[in-house]
Amino acid sequence: MEKKYLKVGTYVPGTEEKGPVIQRDYYRQGWIFKDGEAFLSHADQVCYVPELSDGGYTRQDFMELCNGQEDFAVECFRAVDWQCPETWVDEQYREDGWGYCPVCGKIYDMAGEACACPVCGWNPEEAGENGDSEGGCRAAEPGGVQPQAGLEAGG
Ligand SMILES: [Zn+2]
Repeated sequence: MEKKYLKVGTYVPGTEEKGPVIQRDYYRQGWIFKDGEAFLSHADQVCYVPELSDGGYTRQDFMELCNGQEDFAVECFRAVDWQCPETWVDEQYREDGWGYCPVCGKIYDMAGEACACPVCGWNPEEAGENGDSEGGCRAAEPGGVQPQAGLEAGG
C-alpha cells in the first residue's frame, strides 16, 4: 500500500536569483503550505509556511522550537493550521498543555492542567509562587456553591 502524506499547497525553494514560490491552499483555519512528507523524510526541506508570513519552517525548526523532542515537534507540526509554530508552542505553555521542567531540561505533557514533572516531580505551581503579588482577593470559597434541586414536577 502506498503511504499518503498530507500535502497542502506547493512550495518551490528559492534560488540565488529569486525567492521561493509559495502556493498556499486552505487547510482547517487558514491558507498555508504544509507537507507531511517533507517533515517526515526531509529534515532540511521547508514543510510548513504559515498564513501571515512567508518564512518557511523545516523539521529542524520544529525540533528547535520543541526542545529537540520529536514527539512534541510532531504534535506541533500536526496542530498548526495557520499560525506561526512559535505562537502555537507559546499557547501550549500558557494553557498548561505543556510544561517545561528546568530540572530535567525537558518538555512534558500536562494535558490542560498544571502538574508536576512525571520524571523528577518538579512542580511548576510551587516554583511559580515568588513575585506574584497582584490580586489579593480570591473568589473561591469553600461551600459557596451548593447544588440545588431544580424545578420539581408536580404530581
Ligand atoms: Zn523533571
